[in-house]
Amino acid sequence: MKASKDWKTKLIHSDAKAPEGFASLATPVYRGSTVLFKTVNAANEEWDQYEAGYTYGVYGTPTALELAVRICELEGGYRTILAPGGQAAISLVNLSFLKAGDHVLIPESIYGPNRKFANNVLRRFGVEVSYYPPNVGTGIASHFRANTRLLWCESPGSITMEVQDVPAMAEVAHKAGVLVVLDNTWAAGVLFDAFAHGVDITLQALTKYIGGHSDLLLGSITVKNPDLYQKLGATNQLIGCAVSPDDCSLALRGMKTLAVRLAAIEKSAFALAQWLATRTEIEIVLHPALPSCPGHGCWKRDFTGSSGVFSIVFRRGYSKQQVTAFVDNLELFKIGYSWAGVTSLAMAYDFVSDKRPDYGSRIVRLNIGLESLEDLKIDLTQAFERLRD
Ligand SMILES: *Cc1c(COP(=O)(O)O)cnc(C)c1O
Repeated sequence: MKASKDWKTKLIHSDAKAPEGFASLATPVYRGSTVLFKTVNAANEEWDQYEAGYTYGVYGTPTALELAVRICELEGGYRTILAPGGQAAISLVNLSFLKAGDHVLIPESIYGPNRKFANNVLRRFGVEVSYYPPNVGTGIASHFRANTRLLWCESPGSITMEVQDVPAMAEVAHKAGVLVVLDNTWAAGVLFDAFAHGVDITLQALTKYIGGHSDLLLGSITVKNPDLYQKLGATNQLIGCAVSPDDCSLALRGMKTLAVRLAAIEKSAFALAQWLATRTEIEIVLHPALPSCPGHGCWKRDFTGSSGVFSIVFRRGYSKQQVTAFVDNLELFKIGYSWAGVTSLAMAYDFVSDKRPDYGSRIVRLNIGLESLEDLKIDLTQAFERLRD
């Protein structure tokens, strides 16, 4: 090489050096598609960065792997693989552990897009899909077929909030050689110890409580042993879903305040749930920490706390129009999907066509944020009062 490079070359290959030795509390955001190798012989395309070292940006930069190991540490699993969203984590689990001819069991209370993936994609690829009542407990045994491979759980279930007897179902599943996967998003991966209760694979939408501020999309899958990790990682490599290091950096920041956010949200949400149970407009409050919630006993036995999402069911006689108007009339509670941020949210649902409890179109799901409890009560009260107009 000539002694002095052209300035155009310097743009790419600089000899300038910034001072070293910066010590910060924040994990740096490492961006990168290309990963450099010292020699051609050292170059490889292995996906398992713990074994092979870093090989390619798709398998995670140090920012993503820092988030992965920290989720894994919290959940007490063997390894964690990140996905670009909770739903991507769900589809990755299905694609990794199911093949044509297998049967998958899913609770009626599952997160909606999970059900749609099973109906619209898994069935197209020759996987048998069937649904079971979420509170079936050991009765799950009668739903198994000779080809059942995977048992989905989600506890509490989306919107209808049934808390499942996961340890009892896992025991029966393992006797039948069935893998148990749990969507542990509501518990933020920390309020329910999935692996201690017999689960093989857990996932969460990090979009929710880990991110915590409604400004990122990420998911995680954590497995309990090397065999599951190999199957998951090998499939993930070929599907090619990469996560953004910037989003991972935000998730790492969100994670630091998870404990204080969850504590404040739990307190506020439970107080509101108790208060809502006293309202004459409301037939039932579906909050896992209240005895009125299906599976409350399992929550009490298995969980170490509750988070901020629960549902209320209006008394019979309230029309769909009235329930919709109630939600529309809320001011602090915003209308939108994706909960677990700092802003309270409300959404009305309609289960007339599903095999779910007979709540019809009288069910509203609330996400409690970090606003003052008194102001949230005032907001709900004014929306109740306007129903009388
Ligand atoms: C939101 C949610 C997901 C999906 O997460 P995204 O990051 O929005 O894709 C999966 N499961 C549950 C229970 C959820 O609430």
